[in-house]
Amino acid sequence: MTHPTGLKLIDGRDLRITWNDGHITHVPLQHFRDKCPCAGCQGESDIFGAIKKPMQLQIAIPGKYDLKSLSPVGNYAVAAVWGDGHDSGIYTWEYLLDMEKRIERAQP
Ligand SMILES: [Zn+2]
Repeated sequence: MTHPTGLKLIDGRDLRITWNDGHITHVPLQHFRDKCPCAGCQGESDIFGAIKKPMQLQIAIPGKYDLKSLSPVGNYAVAAVWGDGHDSGIYTWEYLLDMEKRIERAQP
């Protein structure tokens, strides 16, 4: 299975992920945070698959895009802690690979 062999913060703005197959992904921190997979950020789907999105505050929160730490969760994910205290996002390898595909599509 594809998994990261290294995660590194570049200039405090980009996350560089090195994968075991040798390829590298650059994820802007803002994108990384905006795609936080926790229920609070992405909404929880009900049993019919409908997604209830929480109300989004449009105010910029200080430290929101300031990544404080990334800690491994088992051998399948990392947990991110942000400058605004948000720490419930668990990013699985699968999710990171999916995120990478979306970034490539967004920036041809
Ligand atoms: Zn979140």
